Amino acid sequence: MTTPDTRTPTAPTLHGRVALVTGAGSGIGAATALSLAEAGARVALVGRRRDRLVAVADRIAQAVPDAPTAAVVMGDVTDAAGLTQSIHAARTEIGAPFDLVCANAGSMLAAPIAAADTAEWDTMISTNIAGVLATIRATVDDLTEAGRAGRAADLVLTSSIGAHLVLPGYAVYTATKAAVTHLGTNLRAELGPGGVRVRVVEPGMTESELGDHMTDPQAREWLARFAIENPPIPASAIAESIRWSAALPVGINVASMIVLPTGQG
Ligand code: NDP
Repeated sequence: MTTPDTRTPTAPTLHGRVALVTGAGSGIGAATALSLAEAGARVALVGRRRDRLVAVADRIAQAVPDAPTAAVVMGDVTDAAGLTQSIHAARTEIGAPFDLVCANAGSMLAAPIAAADTAEWDTMISTNIAGVLATIRATVDDLTEAGRAGRAADLVLTSSIGAHLVLPGYAVYTATKAAVTHLGTNLRAELGPGGVRVRVVEPGMTESELGDHMTDPQAREWLARFAIENPPIPASAIAESIRWSAALPVGINVASMIVLPTGQG
């Protein structure tokens, strides 16, 4: 058996890779799409707000003028059938199957359990759990095919450090993220032997729009205080971790990454 070269490439390259990023219109997803494109990957940008996806595609075109245009894919991860159709169309537009899938779209609508609007629980569960499953189901055949062929194949799930924390008001959100972490750990056992590198990324406090949609005043106040105590890191920090790990040699998987502000502890 030959020993793989485990040195980190100084300029991680993803030339020839075909990526799909959900939630690519803002925050971590937008930064990840840009970072993957800068490393040479073709990227499908999935989300619900076309203007935001187009803006990210424009940023990619400016940053990487030689790269093929990023594909804008209107898709709602809570609509599994519609998402599958959109991803199929994106595959056709890009002209190749996906081998780097980032199931990243997420929603955080924290509120105390007794006062929460239960429709917000539905949104978090359908986006953070069912939406991740729908994304996986729509792309897993591409990934297993790449893995079988001995090519790099990455399934990257964005969970959260919250999967491990005890936070008042955040029970449902953190439960959805614990589910994502557990899903990734188990899928590793299922897909790893076929060559698919399943990776769970657990960000800490990161700059994005995630908290902007919260309606509960108590939870908003808690988050604002937490952000002052733990200044967020840029979304590009998470993106770089994803880019770096995807560029590692075939056969090596950084299976779990907690990426957070140092001060968050
Ligand atoms: P953002 O709110 O900036 O990004 C979330 C993205 O998900 C948006 O672009 C949104 O776009 C998309 N999205 C939401 N619902 C759907 C849907 N139903 N279908 C398709 N896309 C959807 O926040 P982040 O970048 O922070 O979030 C990315 C991931 O990172 C999430 O899973 C989040 O839980 C996780 N995370 C973030 C942390 C942080 O501190 N920021 C910490 C830990 C984890 P659109 O509305 O246009 O569809």
